[in-house]
Amino acid sequence: MTFLERTTDARKFRHWEGNMEADYIYTSGVAGERFFVALRDEGRLLASRCTACDLDYLPARLFCEDCFAELTESVEVPREGRVAAVSVARVDRTGVRLSLPQVWAFVTFRGIRGGLVHRLLVPPDRARAGLAVRPKLKPKGARVGAITDIEGFEPVGS
Ligand SMILES: [Zn+2]
Repeated sequence: MTFLERTTDARKFRHWEGNMEADYIYTSGVAGERFFVALRDEGRLLASRCTACDLDYLPARLFCEDCFAELTESVEVPREGRVAAVSVARVDRTGVRLSLPQVWAFVTFRGIRGGLVHRLLVPPDRARAGLAVRPKLKPKGARVGAITDIEGFEPVGS
């Protein structure tokens, strides 16, 4: 093929078909480990505190986004949060219809920068932004130090 020839069929280019294997291991990091240990052992949600900026971050992190200081202090996230956004999933990631819709929410907390995306434990027709929620944790003996130690967020008063 020359520069004067054009093709819209990518298979005409020299190519090899195949699959490339790639395995990834993600660690939770220093701040994440602190968060998950507190969640598992104490049932508490921790945010990372920047004392210089007077900011608390969720998810927990090791450095301040504003001043780049190393964050060594943690504060407990308020028990009650607010749903900032919701989404109802009716198909899985491959497009297969779910037997039951799943409700997901971005939950924020007063005074905390950021928030958590997790299941919202309400029927789809009750899912709405502004809902006051609290985390529903697995029993202590069942917690393993993972985000799934939180079963989801349920409306306050339920
Ligand atoms: Zn800072």
